[in-house]
Amino acid sequence: MSSTQQKFSIHTRPNWAEVALPVLERNYRAVAAHVGPKVTVCSVIKCDAYGHGVVECARALERAGSHWLGVTSTEEGLAVRDAGVRARILVMTGIWRNEEDAVIRHNLTPAIATPGHLRALETAAKALGRPQHSLAVHLKLDTGMSRLGLPLEELPDFLERLKQSPYVMLEGVFSHLASSEVLDAPDAEEQMARFDQAMETIHAAGLQPRYTHLANAGAVEARPATWREMVRPGLLLYGYNLPCSGPGAEKTGLDVHPVLSWKTRIIALRDIPAGRAVGYNLTWTAKRSTRVAVLPVGYGDGYNRHLSNRGRVIVRDRYAPIVGNISMDLTTVDVTEIPGAALGDEVLLIGQSANCQVGAQEHADLAGTVIYEILCGLSPRVPRIYVE
Ligand SMILES: *Cc1c(COP(=O)(O)O)cnc(C)c1O
Repeated sequence: MSSTQQKFSIHTRPNWAEVALPVLERNYRAVAAHVGPKVTVCSVIKCDAYGHGVVECARALERAGSHWLGVTSTEEGLAVRDAGVRARILVMTGIWRNEEDAVIRHNLTPAIATPGHLRALETAAKALGRPQHSLAVHLKLDTGMSRLGLPLEELPDFLERLKQSPYVMLEGVFSHLASSEVLDAPDAEEQMARFDQAMETIHAAGLQPRYTHLANAGAVEARPATWREMVRPGLLLYGYNLPCSGPGAEKTGLDVHPVLSWKTRIIALRDIPAGRAVGYNLTWTAKRSTRVAVLPVGYGDGYNRHLSNRGRVIVRDRYAPIVGNISMDLTTVDVTEIPGAALGDEVLLIGQSANCQVGAQEHADLAGTVIYEILCGLSPRVPRIYVE
């Protein structure tokens, strides 16, 4: 069950997001073709599939051929498993106390990064009567992000400990790049070098993990050297390239298309004379007689307040600028230049019409953030409508 869908029993407020699952599937296939048949794609569906709805997206990706899905938390993994998805599910952030039992029972594949993780999994596997060496794990290494992952100094001791484990089987080893999209970032080269060195240590210890992986969006787009047996794209699947910078950046970018469009309708219209101001703190004053359209969307829906007086929407295939401050539940736009704009007109907040386009990137630029935050910020109040 997707919480985004079930927030209210009926949705009458004209404010919704359309999620085009066939586009998601096409994007998956574009990524898979780009990395080639030898590289396994682990489709990242964390944070409710970047706000698109984790269960529906997991099903669609599985249908498109994704045998691996990546989530952040055990609870996300369980939600996907409960929905009947059979693909492998990598819990990328690892397990927290008392999650090991559920992880094993529901066949989630945990990332591990500490001896404590190993101990917890072994205890649970024993209690559940699991066969020897049946518990596949992916070891996360800290190659330079200093966030999660086993510090490399601890790797030799950890490997000794791992080899003695009766239950755990090292199926994967991975790390995460801090600057995958910055093509001349020295830190990315250093991380890759440390990763390769760690792999030598792992092989020297007699371990042969089947999957090694490093690549998120930027690396999938532009760093083939990081594609090992697996890649972990997220953003690309939802239809956005992570803008790369540095040498060769202009040649990067996959042919992917936004999966989500966000729509609303004009719920009120008024004509105001020149000199009249609009909205909280009256931050915008009409310079001429102006037709203002009112939209039932605000920062309570995740419509970023930094778009106030700066962003735009699409009405009747024309741009309408946002005027005044965005409120919790309402936004005002100037439709003076849009002939015929009428009560009930459909309005695109994020999306594309014949001649106009407003993407999450535009919102991110205006809000001084990244596309990720715009997509994840779409609140559960906005129902997701799945277009098959
Ligand atoms: C989010 C995440 C990804 C996917 O990142 P994108 O930039 O969206 O492709 C990959 N790996 C890990 C560990 C992540 O947390």
